[in-house]
Amino acid sequence: MKLVKKQNTDTSPLHAAVLGATIDRRTFLKRSGITAGGITAAGTLSMSMMKKAAATEQASAEAGHAARIRSICTHCSVGCGIYAEVENGVWTGQEPAFDHPFNRGAHCAKGASVREHGHGERRLKYPTKLVNGKWTRVTWDEALNEIGDQMLAIREQSGPDSVYWLGSAKYNNEQAYLFRKFAALWGTNNVDHQARICHSTTVAGVANTWGYGAMTNSYNDIHNSKAILIIGGNPAEAHPVSLQHIFRATERNNAPLIVIDPRFTRTAAHADQFIRLRPGTDVPVVWGMLWHIFENGWEDKEFIKQRVYGMDEVRAEVAKWTPDEVERVSGVPEEAIKRAAQTMAENRPGTFIWCMGGTQHTIGNNNTRAYCIFQLALGNMGVTGGGTNIFRGHDNVQGATDFGVLSHTLPGYYGLSEGAWKHWAAVWGVDYDWLAGRFDKEEHPGDFFGEEGATDTVVMPMNENGIPVSRWIDGVLEEKTHIAQRDNLRAMVFWGHAPNSQTRGAEMKEAMEKLDLMVIIDPYPTASAVMQDRSDGVYLLPAATQFETYGSVTASNRSLQWRDKVIDPLFESLPDHTIMYRLASKLGFADELCKNVQVNNDEPVIEDITREFNKGMWTIGYTGQSPERLKEHQQNWHTFDYTSLEAKGGPANGDYYGMPWPCWGTAEMKSNERNVASVETRGFKQGLRSD
Ligand code: SF4
Repeated sequence: MKLVKKQNTDTSPLHAAVLGATIDRRTFLKRSGITAGGITAAGTLSMSMMKKAAATEQASAEAGHAARIRSICTHCSVGCGIYAEVENGVWTGQEPAFDHPFNRGAHCAKGASVREHGHGERRLKYPTKLVNGKWTRVTWDEALNEIGDQMLAIREQSGPDSVYWLGSAKYNNEQAYLFRKFAALWGTNNVDHQARICHSTTVAGVANTWGYGAMTNSYNDIHNSKAILIIGGNPAEAHPVSLQHIFRATERNNAPLIVIDPRFTRTAAHADQFIRLRPGTDVPVVWGMLWHIFENGWEDKEFIKQRVYGMDEVRAEVAKWTPDEVERVSGVPEEAIKRAAQTMAENRPGTFIWCMGGTQHTIGNNNTRAYCIFQLALGNMGVTGGGTNIFRGHDNVQGATDFGVLSHTLPGYYGLSEGAWKHWAAVWGVDYDWLAGRFDKEEHPGDFFGEEGATDTVVMPMNENGIPVSRWIDGVLEEKTHIAQRDNLRAMVFWGHAPNSQTRGAEMKEAMEKLDLMVIIDPYPTASAVMQDRSDGVYLLPAATQFETYGSVTASNRSLQWRDKVIDPLFESLPDHTIMYRLASKLGFADELCKNVQVNNDEPVIEDITREFNKGMWTIGYTGQSPERLKEHQQNWHTFDYTSLEAKGGPANGDYYGMPWPCWGTAEMKSNERNVASVETRGFKQGLRSD
C-alpha cells in the first residue's frame, strides 16, 4: 500500500507547464501572475513552447538593438542561465534563459535582480581609506602601495601568518584557484572562505562516507525521484528554481514530499508530510526512522550485503532509539516517524536533501553522516532519482571549496603534506624549496593545546592547518602563547566576504579594532566597513562583480558553467584576479603567481588559469573541462536534455552538461568517448549506477 497518493486537480499555469501542456509564454505569464511559491515557473515549459520567445530574441539581436550575453546568476548554487541585454555598454535588460538546462526560463526574485549589480547605486566607486575617522579617496596605486608596505613590515616583524586572507565563494573558479595560490606564495595557510561556516560539516561527513563531499546527483535528476525528503532546508526561499525540479517529481511521479524542520517554512507548505523536530535532534529522528525500517525489514538487504560496510554496528545503535526515546528527545511522535519511514521505503528511489539547518550545529558531522547512512539502508545510493543531495549556498561555494580556499587543504583536496605541496609546486612551475622558504620555519614554544605547564612546538607551519574563519577572532585576541604561530594576526583581508554570517559579534568588533590593518575588497561596503569604531587603518577597495569579468563557476551539482562578461567594470572597480596580480606585484611574487599565465594590462588571462588548474586537479577530476569545451557547452545550452543533462546532438553530443566532476582527461582532449569511458569505468556516470 502506498501511504501517500495525490490527485492532480490543479489547473494552474504552473501545473499545466509541469505536465507539458502547450501554452505561449505571454499567456503563461499573464495567467500565472508571475510567481508560484517565489519562482517564475516558466522554466517548466517545454522547448516547443518557447518558439515565439526565441524568435523574438533572435529578431531583436539581428536588428542590432542589443547584444545578448550568456551569463549565470550569482545568487545561489542552482546556477540559472541568464541572457543579459547590453546596449552601448549599458546593461539594459535581462531574461531568464529559456534554453538553459537548469532553469528553462525560470528565475526567482533574487535572480531577477542581478541587473542591479550593473546600476551601481550602492557600489563602491573608488578606493578609499579611513583618515581621522573620514573615508578619504585614494588612487589604486596609493592604496596598494600603502597596504603592501604595511603587510611587508608585518611579515618582517611577525611572520607571514600574521596576515589573514579571507577569500570568497563569490569568486569564479579561476579567481578562487588564483587566490589559494596567492596565499600559498605569500607563505601561510591562514586562508579560508564562507564554506567553513555553511557546509564544512557536510564536506567532512559526506567525504568520510563517499570519499569526497558534494551533491551526489543533480537538481535535474530529482525528476526521477519517487520520494523526496528535505531536512534542514528551505529551497522555496533559498534555492527557488530547484523547486521546479522537485515539483516535476511530485507532479509526474506522484512522489511524496516530506519536510523535516523546526519551522513551518514555505517549503513545508508544499509538503505531503511536515515533521517539526526540536532543533539539533536530526540524528534521533533519522535513527527513529531507521528503527522502523529495520524493525519491518524494509532495508535493501542485497544492496547492504554487496556495498555497505558496518551496517550491523549502525543497526545495534539504532536499536536503542525506540519510538518512546525518539519522541522524548525530538518531540516527534511515533506515528509521524513511522509514516515518513514507510513512505521512503515504499517509494524508491528517493532523494535525501539537506541544507544549513542540518549542518550548522556542533554535531553537524554526525547529522550529515546519519543522512548518508539512511540512504545506504534503503539502497538509494548510486541510482538515478536517489542520492544525498546537498544544496549549497553561494553560486560558487562548490568551486571555491574544490579549489581549496580553505585553511586545511590545497586545490583539489590534496591536503597540506609535503607531497601535496610538491605536486602543486610542479604545476605552478615554482621551486619547492623556494616555496617552503616563504613559510615561517621558526619553532614556537607555547601551551596552545591548553595543557597547563606544557610546551608544544610548531615544526612546519606549511604542513599545519591554518586558522579557520570561525576562529580568526581568537587569532587576534588570544594570548600569543596560545596560538600555534609566531605572533597574533595583525592584518585581515576581507576579500568578497562580509562578516554577517559569523557569530561572536562583540568579540569580532573588538578584534577588528585591535588589528593594525583591515582591508576590505568587495563591490559593496559590507558590514566590515561599519561595524568597528576605528578612525584609521582601514581600506575599502572596489572589486568588480562576476558580471564585469568572465570565467567558470561550479554549480551545486558539480557542473562547470562558463560566464561571459556582460559589462566593463563600473567606476574604478577591478576584477578580483587583476587586484590579486597587482597586489602580488607589490608583494614581490607576481612572476611566480602567473608563471604559466599571460597577463594583459595587469589582468591575468582567465583561460590560462583554467588550463593551469586542468593540469593539477587530478584528485576530483577538474582536468577535462578545458575553456574550449566549457564555452562549447555554454553556446549549446539547448542541446542538453532537461532530465539527464546529456547533450542530444550538437557539437557536445554525448557530453553531460558542464562536465560535472569527476571529469578526467586532459584539457587538450575533446574526446567524449574517452571522458565518458573513464567516468563509467569508475561507476560514476552522472554519479549514478546504471541499474
Ligand atoms: Fe539565481 Fe538561485 Fe534564483 Fe536561480 S534559483 S535565479 S541561481 S538565486
